[in-house]
Amino acid sequence: MVQFIQKCFSYAVVQNKNEPGKLKSALCQIVPHAFGDHSHCVSWCGYLCNPDTYRHKSLPHGKDLCGKELQEDLNNIVSVYVSNAEKISPAVSTKDVESFNNVIASKAQKRIHYSGSSSLENRVSCAVAEKNMGTQYISKINTLVGVSPGTIFKKICGKKR
Ligand SMILES: [Zn+2]
Repeated sequence: MVQFIQKCFSYAVVQNKNEPGKLKSALCQIVPHAFGDHSHCVSWCGYLCNPDTYRHKSLPHGKDLCGKELQEDLNNIVSVYVSNAEKISPAVSTKDVESFNNVIASKAQKRIHYSGSSSLENRVSCAVAEKNMGTQYISKINTLVGVSPGTIFKKICGKKR
């Protein structure tokens, strides 16, 4: 079932790249479709093509999902993505996310338990600043707090950028 939802989600994102309105609509079709309500479905829905013979390929026994609580839970999950459709619709590669995760990992190594430390917020903030501004953020912070930025450090930052 999880793979089915993931597949529907992936199709919705890929087929509606940079179109948040259409992405919202596509995401809203996933749960009703899985539970056998095809009134919101469009051309991609196999049921609309062959209502008599259609079976969900990725669901157990090809049958519709059932259960009110499950449907509510799935609707709650999908609604989070619907409300973030503008952010999701560019469908950017996971490379950017992995790159950012690496920057965070360089500031807060996993082998050290920083989540129990008050320094974690500062470490993640530094990672965000580095991702957005490059390593030059350190010079800017030094200038703001009245510490000399350092000419050698500036040279190194220039080369890294
Ligand atoms: Zn459908």
